[in-house]
Amino acid sequence: MDWTRIDLGGELFEGPTNSYLIQGDSTVLIDTGVASEDSIAALEVGLAENHTSVNEIDAILLTHWHPDHAGYAGVLQRRAGASVYAHPRDARRVTATEGPLAAGRSDRRQALRKWGVPAEVRMGLESFFEDFSFTFGPPPEIESVTHGTVLSLGTLDFEVVHLPGHTAGHVGYFFEENGTNAFVGDTLLGEYTPNIGGADVRVEKPLDNYLQSLETIAHSGVQQALVGHREILEDPIQRIESIQTHHRNRSERVVSMIESDGPLDCWSVAKRLFGDLRGIHALHGTGEAFAHLQHLETGGILRSDITAERTYRYHHESKSPTVDSIFEQRNTETMWCYIYNMELRVIEKTDEELRIEIAGEDHTFMNVIKGALLETDGVVAATYDMNPEQSGGQVEPILSIQTDSNVDPLDALGDASRSVQITVNDFTSAFEAAHWPTPITGEMIRPR
Ligand SMILES: [Zn+2]
Repeated sequence: MDWTRIDLGGELFEGPTNSYLIQGDSTVLIDTGVASEDSIAALEVGLAENHTSVNEIDAILLTHWHPDHAGYAGVLQRRAGASVYAHPRDARRVTATEGPLAAGRSDRRQALRKWGVPAEVRMGLESFFEDFSFTFGPPPEIESVTHGTVLSLGTLDFEVVHLPGHTAGHVGYFFEENGTNAFVGDTLLGEYTPNIGGADVRVEKPLDNYLQSLETIAHSGVQQALVGHREILEDPIQRIESIQTHHRNRSERVVSMIESDGPLDCWSVAKRLFGDLRGIHALHGTGEAFAHLQHLETGGILRSDITAERTYRYHHESKSPTVDSIFEQRNTETMWCYIYNMELRVIEKTDEELRIEIAGEDHTFMNVIKGALLETDGVVAATYDMNPEQSGGQVEPILSIQTDSNVDPLDALGDASRSVQITVNDFTSAFEAAHWPTPITGEMIRPR
């Protein structure tokens, strides 16, 4: 695959931003930079140096919704007639008519209050975001891609891999060329550790999600990581290990802080970690503290209570596990997947059988996924058990799948979950395209 890194410059975000140009019988751009004059000029120069121009772009693949990656997508789409792709969770931000930063205001307000950030700091942050609204041009129209989607653009194939953490809908675009390589956006960066918790306050369990995303990249055996800022990473696995160690050590610091000075809220922990926090750092620093506190709470090391001001305060659990135990490498047999609030755990896996725990789900969901499995090629049987505690101390629902010898049950589950997703997406699109306001009872809902 013939790709070129275009350095768009800029120091506002995580350092100079990269856009990648891929030329084959389709011309593809990964991320666009902000909608500022300097960045646009740098992009145009980069395209010209590669004997192409804005008008030639067929497709724009967005790694995530932040302005330094998606800010110029709408204008580019209009100029080039290009298709723009993103994960639905981030597409919702990019396409918001009031602008992505304004669209996040109420989520931010809620999070900052929960984290104990003082009112004057919260107000300063909102005026900071207003000053930054220039970074986004008009919104593009987006075609959704989700985990597992293969985008075939001309002779180019990209596999979409969901990498939540830095943002809720962050994706990587993986491709094969002398091994696996990937455009990873801001999931990996060479110089900084990507912000989690504050960079997108919608991410539930930000550190859990992010650590899982790192492992997803590591397990794919990626050789070259084409990152969102600065130089590409020639040894991504080593970088992943150093980021994991960094977070493990930071969690350790947070635990000793709570032990000696607790209970503390996120803001107090953030100030102890990072010192004075102004502007965007008030959001990013406090979000990062939250990500660690939340991870430690999930791991049983801390617990929280809520004050009258609706702020979370964290306490140390007296007989808690070690920090190391919650940073242990997960292996595939006992892997916990943290996708949003859903936790999955493989209990048993052979070539033709899978038993998987789906924590917190009810009959409705289990029935839907079971129904989809029974429609999936190669599935011989699919059942679920809602009250498995009788069969061995298990309290969460368990899905059991049996396949014929040609189909891996994990692949079958992947196919079934995608078919559910397609049905739900179709329903959402049909619903949103339908007449509005609400039609009169009995009237057909049909596309505009
Ligand atoms: Zn970035």
